[in-house]
Amino acid sequence: MSAQIGIGFVTQPLNHDQLQPMADFAADVGVDFLDLRKDEVDVTDQLTSQQLATVRDQLIAIRTKAVRGDYGATRIDLADELVSLANGQRVARTRTSECLAEYFRPTISPFGILAPCDLKAEPRFAASSFNLGVVKRSRVPELVASLPGQFVADACAQCMPSSRTGNAVYAKLLADHAEGIRPTHQPFLVTQEHPDLPAVAAAAGLRDGGAGK
Ligand code: SF4
Repeated sequence: MSAQIGIGFVTQPLNHDQLQPMADFAADVGVDFLDLRKDEVDVTDQLTSQQLATVRDQLIAIRTKAVRGDYGATRIDLADELVSLANGQRVARTRTSECLAEYFRPTISPFGILAPCDLKAEPRFAASSFNLGVVKRSRVPELVASLPGQFVADACAQCMPSSRTGNAVYAKLLADHAEGIRPTHQPFLVTQEHPDLPAVAAAAGLRDGGAGK
């Protein structure tokens, strides 16, 4: 597989009018894709209704040009949350009972502090109550072994959508596991092994004949 090169553009109040120029630029330089999205910590909540209208108009223009083929081989991805924001629709984000990011997004800060996620390793959002250990004082295997005993609530107001999604996915996988559904029976793995089966059919088939019994 050959490597792909793309551009990620995070819409914020200061650059809200640069989406269309960025799409043109991405096509001009010939990157494989452009990902247009909103920021993860909701500074886009500060966009005025006029600025939102500017974003919306640009997204419509970009979509029109993309459908027409004006961007050539460059794929343009309009993130769902950016489209929702531009349309004035609030996104409902449910939370889980426990944050499990320490297993899928652990981060060691420049000071050697192990945090459950990269957000909590940033000076702006770090807090001592989220310190899971210090690499200078403990070896990494010891820190990893201590994680199951460290509860982190899925409750940070500024939690990034990707971490919230990760927590929701992990909560679902663990709930399925408690019901006897093993990870190898999940649709995303079943369809890898049986690409000819639709995901729903593949999962249903394995649940009937496998751990779901
Ligand atoms: S809830 Fe979100 S921000 Fe808080 S520790 Fe977990 S992943 Fe990080």
